[in-house]
Amino acid sequence: MDNEKMISEIVASVIKSMGEVRPQTHKKGVFTNMTDALNAVSKAYKELKSYTVAQREEMIKNIRRLTLEEAEIMAELGVKETGMGNVHDKIIKHQLVAKKTPGTEDLKPTAMTGDEGLTLIEMAPYGVIGSITPSTNPSETVLCNSMGMIAGANAVVFNPHPNAKDTANYAVDLVNRAVLEAGGPENLVVSVENPTKESSDEMMQSPIVRMLVATGGPGVVKALLSSGKKAIGAGAGNPPVIVDDTADVYKAAKDIVDGSSFDNNLPCIAEKECFAFRNIADILISEMQKHGAYLLKGADIDRLMELCLVNKNGKYDINKKWVGKDAVKFLAALGIDAPAGTKLIICETDATHPFVQVEMMMPILAIVRVDDIDEAITLAVQAEHGNRHSAHIHSKNVDHLTRFAREVETTIFVKNAPSYAGIGAGGEGYTTFTIAGPTGEGLTAAHSFTRSRRCVLVDGFHIV
Ligand code: NAD
Repeated sequence: MDNEKMISEIVASVIKSMGEVRPQTHKKGVFTNMTDALNAVSKAYKELKSYTVAQREEMIKNIRRLTLEEAEIMAELGVKETGMGNVHDKIIKHQLVAKKTPGTEDLKPTAMTGDEGLTLIEMAPYGVIGSITPSTNPSETVLCNSMGMIAGANAVVFNPHPNAKDTANYAVDLVNRAVLEAGGPENLVVSVENPTKESSDEMMQSPIVRMLVATGGPGVVKALLSSGKKAIGAGAGNPPVIVDDTADVYKAAKDIVDGSSFDNNLPCIAEKECFAFRNIADILISEMQKHGAYLLKGADIDRLMELCLVNKNGKYDINKKWVGKDAVKFLAALGIDAPAGTKLIICETDATHPFVQVEMMMPILAIVRVDDIDEAITLAVQAEHGNRHSAHIHSKNVDHLTRFAREVETTIFVKNAPSYAGIGAGGEGYTTFTIAGPTGEGLTAAHSFTRSRRCVLVDGFHIV
């Protein structure tokens, strides 16, 4: 046998022994094209079937540990790649994901027993889930989705936001490292190096993908719901906050500044406009200034509007360049030297102002004075635009709290705390970065990514 023939036979046998040739990048689970990613994840899903719940829990435990260890790296990468948000708050978001995302304990079987035997209902996997993730929480969403989906015994293929692909894919690599360390299958979560509309379409249409989950604005949720597949859509918000005259105004001021400025207002749950009772508005505004808010007035408000919004035939849209930027950067662009510690810009407007009506995701909070709770609720419900996402209130009046909750109908409703209490940061309950208002799952967790299956045994196994 000549040398060349021998080498080609050895190569052929090595390739055969590998099963499939998969052009993978240096990041675990990240592929150069969607077809290879889908084939790899399909194989991983089949392999996962032989793993126990305890083994899946071990994988999740490792994801929690690595997320805590590498939170700073991912926070820095996210800010660097997207130019949005701030490292300090992104670290907190990763810590929250690591500590408060539910694992397998979220899956609760039920049983019905009686004269005719035992019926068991278990939460079973969908299979391979396709997940589309946003630029605003790129690694957080990948980590949180992966934990919940793996807990439910699924495998995942991600198509991340193109502007945040490296950060999202860092998290894909992290999840695979955690899974392998627990002895799990290779490529249990996968992604593509360069996500595009085409890779997203291929993922959505692939018969390998049994469920779709999208976290983002209205465009992606609409695309998802027209896919013909089981879909979970976590869409846009524009959360209002009301402050009435029974509230602890001093606490409300600090809470609103903290919530609204968190990660430069990127979170979909963050306070995005404020309706304050006329008789407490002055104190509220002056207290907010003590906690890092800068009060903008007069012509400066119009100049800020020109900077961060684009007028498209009378309809305002965000200037994406300014999404998630630091408050001091906006002020510097207006020639204002902000005091140290400034993290939020506040200004008084009327309720029709674009700062109230448009979901800007910038550290800018418009404050509208209102006469009473009727006006506050009417304007707040209108500003929320029927997204039914999040709304907040500071009040000690039970009727006001109850009425607003009923009328705004949001998935998250926070009373007397910063908005992030709604996802478990300083409030009871687990966390998620996929809040599914449009499709009704609410705060997603492992159970959201499972199918209910019934197993019936007649005339046996009941002991009473
Ligand atoms: P985005 O809508 O621009 O992008 C989100 C994802 O959808 C990206 O991966 C993007 O590539 C993809 N996408 C967009 N249009 C698509 C289409 N027509 N078909 C297929 N894929 C499409 O959102 P963003 O700027 O990254 O994130 C901010 C938005 O997401 C805000 O509106 C915010 O409220 C929302 N958000 C919601 C939640 C939630 O849990 N409900 C969480 C985070 C962000």
